[in-house]
Amino acid sequence: MSIENTRPPHGGHGDRGITVLLRRMHDAVAQEGSVQDRLDQLTSVIASHVVADVCSIYLRRPDDDLELYSTEGLNREAVHKTRLKWGEGLVGLVAEGHRPLVTADAPLHPAFAYRPETGEDPLHSFLGVPLLRSGKTLGVLVVQNKAARIYSDEEVGAAQAVATLLAEIAASGELLSQEETDVVGEMLRRPEKLKGFGIVSGIALGRAVFLQPPAPKHKVFADDPAAEAARLEDGLNRLRASVDEMLVSNASLSGVSRDVLETYRLFAYDRGWKDRLRAAVFSGLTAESAVEQVKAENRARLLQSRDPYLRERLHDLDDLSHRLLRLMGGALNGGRRKLYDDTILVASTMGPAELLEYDRKSLKGLVLGEVSATSHVAIVARALKIPMVTGVRDAIDRTDEGDQIVIDGDAGEIHIRPVREVVEAFRAKHQRQSERQAVYASERDIPTETKDGVKISILMNAGLALDMPYLEETGAEGVGLFRTELQFLIGTQLPSVSTQEALYREALDLAAGKPVIFRTADIGGDKTAAYMDHGAEVNPAMGWRGVRMAVDRPGIIRPQLRALLSAAAGRELYLMFPLVTLASELDGMRALLDREVERAKKSGRDLPRAINIGAMIETPAAAWQADQIAAKVDFLSIGGNDLAQFYFAADRDSERVQRRYDPMNPGFLSFLQMTVQKALKAKAPLSYCGEQAVDPVTAAALIGLGVTQFSLPAVSVGPFRRLVRSVSAGDLAAWLAVEMQQPHLSLRDGCAQFLKDNGAALE
Ligand code: PEP
Ligand code: MG
Repeated sequence: MSIENTRPPHGGHGDRGITVLLRRMHDAVAQEGSVQDRLDQLTSVIASHVVADVCSIYLRRPDDDLELYSTEGLNREAVHKTRLKWGEGLVGLVAEGHRPLVTADAPLHPAFAYRPETGEDPLHSFLGVPLLRSGKTLGVLVVQNKAARIYSDEEVGAAQAVATLLAEIAASGELLSQEETDVVGEMLRRPEKLKGFGIVSGIALGRAVFLQPPAPKHKVFADDPAAEAARLEDGLNRLRASVDEMLVSNASLSGVSRDVLETYRLFAYDRGWKDRLRAAVFSGLTAESAVEQVKAENRARLLQSRDPYLRERLHDLDDLSHRLLRLMGGALNGGRRKLYDDTILVASTMGPAELLEYDRKSLKGLVLGEVSATSHVAIVARALKIPMVTGVRDAIDRTDEGDQIVIDGDAGEIHIRPVREVVEAFRAKHQRQSERQAVYASERDIPTETKDGVKISILMNAGLALDMPYLEETGAEGVGLFRTELQFLIGTQLPSVSTQEALYREALDLAAGKPVIFRTADIGGDKTAAYMDHGAEVNPAMGWRGVRMAVDRPGIIRPQLRALLSAAAGRELYLMFPLVTLASELDGMRALLDREVERAKKSGRDLPRAINIGAMIETPAAAWQADQIAAKVDFLSIGGNDLAQFYFAADRDSERVQRRYDPMNPGFLSFLQMTVQKALKAKAPLSYCGEQAVDPVTAAALIGLGVTQFSLPAVSVGPFRRLVRSVSAGDLAAWLAVEMQQPHLSLRDGCAQFLKDNGAALE
């Protein structure tokens, strides 16, 4: 596929038009004369290009007012006089909304603000485009015509391309006076507070590092187009070589990841892309500006495309452009970033394996664009106790590497370049949290019983040897879920039996006699290892994973069972199987286990003192027949993360759908209640190990539904113990029995109020 093919069919000015426009803009900026003369010249060039009766540039002032700086077509006297407040009028709306606004009859628009001094009375159609730089609006480009008409998508796209360049010019110091450039620079470096979602609680203070390194700063216009063309050529050659190299070094990859790399290669060698980059350079732009310019054009084109595949490719194209910029800026490759001692990692998204590659001591916090609370990267972050905020997509645009960032994982906020008072307030909060942790630690030996005497066992989730000391620190009764697949995800090859055995033995030793429930490797879904051939699946979460893969691939599960049997020789072994759907699947797993037991016996190896087998209830099918599954195992554990994803048919990794459905939905709660009752009836011990129990309101509801054993991330053990001791299971059950019958969408607010009224510890 070619990038060229993504262009809308209609003609317009086309590439030649854009090239001519860029050259004229270059000449306007390069000409002698006052700042105002150059700006006016630029405005008139744009006006004639877009065939507008009026073209105006508004720039943002330090007080956030938008001031008319230059116009072609409005009354000249209005320049530097007409001002609109942030959010006022159509111009203010464009600035505030960060997106273009098109209307055929501006005076009829509800937000229209009339400014008589501009002489805009005869004008009807309006197109406003924000001048965006680093995610911030620096101003607004406005195109107006007398005739009432709607601007075409192509015209909007062209205006956006011009606005991108205008924003670059405004920030580069090539057009405005020094004082005004300083104002723009200050605006870009203002402290910012972004609201997202807290995924891992806690406070972190540190300096920003990007998972993807940022593009270096650069000039907009060049004096020597031939030299720029040579730099571009060199950058492109190195880009192509680096993409080829990626394909060779990942030759064993298959499925989705290889497709991604192949698409990269197609784009890197795309003739049309190169031609447009060269044309932009020969119109007077630096090689870097040409890349930015063509990137903005491609963005505008692909966003208009109806084809979701093409829209998805935007990310690849952006990534390729960033790589090219970095290569031209002197980066040798896109290798691992240097970390600060107090690194806050900022990324749009990342996988659990990538996170595990980072040095845990230096990594203090995570800011991710789009990741849900039950995704595995969140689970790993929680296990590592790294505060994390997500849902802040433009954090990358608004931050420079090295900027100070404060993360509040409880409030779901981040502060970029905070003022001193904010930093101090957060230091104090951090201190209070540490004190609270010390209080939790002092309570670790207190028996956990509800006010009405129901004993609740608290276990802990783990996955790395590093997690094990928390058993002692938190007073958890054991490990209720040891996610063994983490070891499979970290390495570059399948871990050998002896490495697996060493980890399991270490975990058992560190547990010092407390039970550790090892969940056999749950690979698949979002937990994929680069060295394994998963094949491409459209719905990997519902695909070949958990016990499904285990029975098909005994080459993975049998060595793991062997390692577990050896590590637990002479001790009690607890084994748990993930993603069971039908009771019959357990027969296949048991047969594999029996074979390994026989094999160990034959070779005279010691065996565990006892082997307890558990099944995870993670699919509605398994929940529905929990009694039949219970008959085949020694214990059950509800994996609420997967169970909720399948109950609501909402991908746990999709930020767009994940928060739509609340686990406090009465339907889901009654479904859980049914599962608990089936387990009780079958006399099977049952625990809950989904992340939902991290939330005190949901945890309390689960107690009300009859769950008496929980496995939680280590950080949640202390607060949960307090919660248990402050609630009455009987009162909660009675409250739920009534409220679950009502047509509520969620019982969250009601339950929170009930808990508050009854003095529950909800912190
Ligand atoms: C679950 O699905 O709730 C669970 C505990 O397993 P994981 O999160 O590892 O899929
Ligand atoms: Mg699961």
